[in-house]
Order: sequence, then C-alpha cells, then structure tokens
Amino acid sequence: MSQLVIVGTVAFDAIETPFGKTDKILGGAATYIGLSAAQYHAKGALVSVVGGDFPAEYLELLESRGMDTSGIEVVKDGKTFFWAGKYHNDMNTRDTLATELNVLADFNPVVPENYRDSEVVLLGNLHPEVQSSVLDQMSAPKLVILDTMNFWMEHTWDALVEVMKRVDVISINDEEARQLTGEYSLVRAAQKIQEMGPKYVIIKKGEHGALLFHKDEVFFAPALPLEEVFDPTGAGDTFAGGFAGFLAQTEDYSFDNMKKAIVHGSALASFCVEKFGIERLENLTREELYSRLQQFKQLTQFDIELH
Ligand code: AMP
Repeated sequence: MSQLVIVGTVAFDAIETPFGKTDKILGGAATYIGLSAAQYHAKGALVSVVGGDFPAEYLELLESRGMDTSGIEVVKDGKTFFWAGKYHNDMNTRDTLATELNVLADFNPVVPENYRDSEVVLLGNLHPEVQSSVLDQMSAPKLVILDTMNFWMEHTWDALVEVMKRVDVISINDEEARQLTGEYSLVRAAQKIQEMGPKYVIIKKGEHGALLFHKDEVFFAPALPLEEVFDPTGAGDTFAGGFAGFLAQTEDYSFDNMKKAIVHGSALASFCVEKFGIERLENLTREELYSRLQQFKQLTQFDIELH
C-alpha cells in the first residue's frame, strides 16, 4: 500500500437543506477526502490549517480513522475556515451564504517529512499556488490528482494552468469542464483538458454519474439512483477520496484500475449525501460499502445477444 498526501480545507460548515439546518459542524474538503480514503486503510496525511477554536476531538476523529494530522497546522490565535451554504429544493443548486477564510488566508502548506516520498497526492480544491507548493515538496509522486472549481478559473487562471501541467488526473464537474475549455461537448472538453496537462480527465455529472477520459478511451460510471438526497455537501470530495484511497491501496495506476476506483468513489459519494455533513461517512462500515459496490455492479450489468 502506498502513502497518500491530501491537501485541502478542514473547516466549520453550516448547512441548510430542505430537510433541516445545522450549526457549525465539522466540514472541509480534506475532511471528506480523508474519511473516504480511510475506507481503504490508506496511510494518509492531511495537510491543512485550522484555528485555536478547532476542537481537539475533531482531530482525534480523523486520527482514529487512520489519517495522520501532523500536517494540520493549528494557529492558536486564529479562527478556522468557515463556510455556510443553503440548498434549493432540487438539491442541485446551492447558495453560498458565507465564506470566511480566516487562517486559510495565509496558509503555507507543509507536508510532513515522512510523507514527502508518498506515491499518491490529492490536491483538494484550494488556491492553485497552494496546490503547486505541495507538489514542490514531494520527491517523485506516481499519481497526482487535482480537484478545482470555477472560482479559481475566474480569479487565478495563470496559476491554475501552471498546476494543471503538473498533474496526472483532474476531477471536475461538467459545467467546470465547459468553463475551462469553452467547449460544450464533454468529449471535446476532455480532449482540450488533456492538452493542458492531465492525462486522465474525470468529469462528474452529479446524479448522472461520472466519465473518465484517457486518450481514445472513455469509461462511464453511473451514480446510484437514491430515493432521497439529504445533503450533497462534500460529495465531490468524498468521490475523490474514494478514488485516491482505492488507487493508493492497490498501487495500480492504470486506466483499468481507475475504472474500479471511479466506482468506489461513486459508491462512497452515495453514502455521503444520505445524512448531514460527515455523519454517514463517519460510521460507515466496510460491509455496507461492499454491499453498495454490489448494487453498482447489478445496476450496470446486462446480457446482450448480437445476431
Ligand atoms: P463540495 O460540496 O464538494 O463543494 O465541498 C464542500 C466543502 O468544501 C465544505 O465542507 C466546505 O468547507 C469546503 N469549501 C467551501 N468553499 C470552499 C472554498 N472556497 N475553498 C475551499 N473549500 C471550500
């Protein structure tokens, strides 16, 4: 099993959905990624920053799932990053009510010494210069995965283009792929993105699944049709965490193995949305994960006779 480095936010979130409302709860992209990757017993280090207001129990929770938190800087007199969001009835759109960067504004990521030779790096959604700085500290990773969003395309284009040249896989949603390339066709968008650096392009389509592109090959994994989506926060991060965790566990970074990794990521994301925040991931068992992977298999397997 190879080691995994994860950089991203560790945060307080306040979430409002048609089903209810939370006060400040544990959130952040790196939190979701870490809890998801932990399902594969991947030896992972979280690289992030929190304030003195961040409860020690949250760090202990992450540690108890096998995530090394020594790369999470605690700024004693600072405040933790805070995000508040409200979902509309269809759950596909949300309004950001607050983004308080706090200690994240001056974040200088430091990868723990004993993780600098890790094989897998997951650059969670953050300023592209912060993502580059993490890569500068790594000796020779075999797989670098990048998550980003429209905000960075609009505000830090040059830095985003630079970090994209250094990654193997990019994970973005369909609208972001279109914005990044100016192409409506996702096939064309994926081709253009590959010309920008990443050899593998994952395009997430929410409840409609995810596509993986590599040269002339394409793979599609559905999302599990769920009766009820309770809270979509962190679904994309959970997907990325499952993808990276599975690859780090299997140490096989081929296209064929990435197909399996995408199904693992999709299965984990389907759990994430069932409850508020990290609640469902926190208590997820391997048996539940396996049974859901079985459901994914049944969802897409069919016999066809060609005469
Ligand atoms: P997602 O639902 O995949 O967009 O991820 C939600 C998580 O991202 C939440 O737990 C937030 O704490 C975190 N988040 C929200 N806004 C930002 C931002 N601008 N930069 C980094 N992380 C963010």
